[in-house]
Amino acid sequence: MKHATTFDMQAEKNSPTKRLATQVAIVGGGPVGMGLAIELGQRGIRCVLIERHRQPQPIPKGQNLTQRTMEHFHFWGAEPALRAARTIPPEYGIGGLTAYGSLLGPYHYDWMQRELVRPYYFKANERLPQYATETVLRARVAELPTVQVCYGWRVEDVKPWADGVKMIALAHEGSGDAGEVQQLAIHADYVVGCDGSRSLVRAQAGITQTLSDHDRMMVLLVFRSHQLHELLKRYPGKSYYNVLQTELDGYWKFFGRVDLGETWFFHAPVPPGTTRDNFDFRSYLHQAVGADFDVEFEHIGFWDLRFAIADSYRAGRVFIAGDAAHSHPPYGGYGVNTGFEDARNLGWKLAAALQGWGGETLLDSYDRERRPVFASTARDFIAKSIETDRQFLRTFDPEQDRDAFEQAWQGRSAHAVGEVHAFEPNYEGSPIVAESDHAAAQGGSAIGTHTFRARAGHHLAPALLSQRFQGRNVYEELGEGFTLLAFDAEPEKVRTLTQTAQAMGLPLKVVEDSAHGECQRYEATLVLVRPDHFVAWSDTDADGLDLAEAAEAKAVLRRASGAPLLEAVGSV
Ligand SMILES: Cc1cc2nc3c(=O)[nH]c(=O)nc-3n(C[C@H](O)[C@H](O)[C@H](O)COP(=O)(O)OP(=O)(O)OC[C@H]3O[C@@H](n4cnc5c(N)ncnc54)[C@H](O)[C@@H]3O)c2cc1C
Repeated sequence: MKHATTFDMQAEKNSPTKRLATQVAIVGGGPVGMGLAIELGQRGIRCVLIERHRQPQPIPKGQNLTQRTMEHFHFWGAEPALRAARTIPPEYGIGGLTAYGSLLGPYHYDWMQRELVRPYYFKANERLPQYATETVLRARVAELPTVQVCYGWRVEDVKPWADGVKMIALAHEGSGDAGEVQQLAIHADYVVGCDGSRSLVRAQAGITQTLSDHDRMMVLLVFRSHQLHELLKRYPGKSYYNVLQTELDGYWKFFGRVDLGETWFFHAPVPPGTTRDNFDFRSYLHQAVGADFDVEFEHIGFWDLRFAIADSYRAGRVFIAGDAAHSHPPYGGYGVNTGFEDARNLGWKLAAALQGWGGETLLDSYDRERRPVFASTARDFIAKSIETDRQFLRTFDPEQDRDAFEQAWQGRSAHAVGEVHAFEPNYEGSPIVAESDHAAAQGGSAIGTHTFRARAGHHLAPALLSQRFQGRNVYEELGEGFTLLAFDAEPEKVRTLTQTAQAMGLPLKVVEDSAHGECQRYEATLVLVRPDHFVAWSDTDADGLDLAEAAEAKAVLRRASGAPLLEAVGSV
């Protein structure tokens, strides 16, 4: 990144400028920027969030919210409001279905059955249009005195400056929030670009991207059709549907309900050069369903199907998150969920740095953990599914050989179950979690296994505590900082770790219970849980450290908080 020696305030001479100073400036108030603002704001970090649009954009993308994402909403104090904003009644399901040829054809199976992994998460998944999610997040952000939101401002300039970053934002939609003020000059300790796939922050920070060769033009249709609802009643409880057709060569025609009964969205590849006026979208829909039905278009837009990953998620004091850092086709509903996890991962680390207990290693670990997870999601799940579908469609055709097709179709259905289990983003091999016994661990991967065992670098599974806690879940007892779960653990070890954390200034809550019932599923007596509820260390990990020794307790905590390991041994 180019370091500025003079901060360009030229525009300030001609128009009134308001100056703001803050700890973290967030560029972009889409779902990820809002999530990050809540994560930081709740931790007492002062933030300024700049979003160019006064209202969320009414495009029903990003509908599929995973169980893990709903854990974020719980901790962000926005879960009840989000569930209430659901546009499909709770008694109607939010499952998916994959069909061959057309939606009403003879071949289909259940797809993305996330309920299979429900026991490993504290919350059930949810589905609603992204603009509804954004409305809920905006309302929650408005409750936080630590977050100042500037709607209707567009960031134009981002430059590193001394021990911070300076930004210029211009009024974007009418005049800015501050009446006559037409320009904001913001000084922040850190800037996070959550400004989407065409990120200005990424570009100005000099962060390059690696693109894949999947470029396709896609159409996004939003339409009303009651007849389609009637036609799809044969698939109760389903809210999204994808159709495989030989001529699409692995890319999908994808339908989703926006509400129950009327409104739908659809996306699919279209030939390059397609416009609103030169393509018969109605027939395209009818062909995908395999029947004619009424269609009243509300929106016809286009987007680029591509895979892009930033070559770094950090450049000095500038970070990027969400689509600014990575984008991929919305196959499998990974996009917004991956972005929320970025926010959760980065939030506590930035807070730790600003509160003085987290250093550069901790900040660097954001890139070390999150980038490989996205790369793996794109490679091992999304690109792989396009390639698998392509090979299937090129190999099997019920018109040519029905038996072979049906056998292979059944095999796909079984694989769809395996895929839900295998998607388990984890940070095995990360520099801030205990060493993994898995030799190939790279610091992050989307491939894993769901298990209740507490494993370093993996999401903590929920468990009911004993009657002492009135049957509350471990998740209801986790602290804002680190949490030490101790199940009939040796008091000496708990004491040593607690005292060491105190001496290091690390926030640590201890939850002590008997090793009983569901807590035994962790297969550990001591589990150190990070503020984002991944396991940093457990006493079953490969490092074999003994916490009764102060030096070893310190080594565990220094690693988890990203403190230099050189000083790991010595006085506290
Ligand atoms: C058709 C479609 C369907 C999808 N379906 C799913 C799905 O089912 N599940 C899923 O997980 N994901 C889905 N996605 C992907 C998902 O929508 C994105 O991953 C998500 O929007 C990323 O959120 P974000 O906050 O990172 O970026 P964005 O949503 O792009 O938000 C960026 C924000 O930054 C603002 N901004 C940009 N530049 C500036 C600037 N200079 N100054 C101020 N503000 C600025 C923008 O106005 C915007 O509000 C879908 C995407 C598409 C296109």
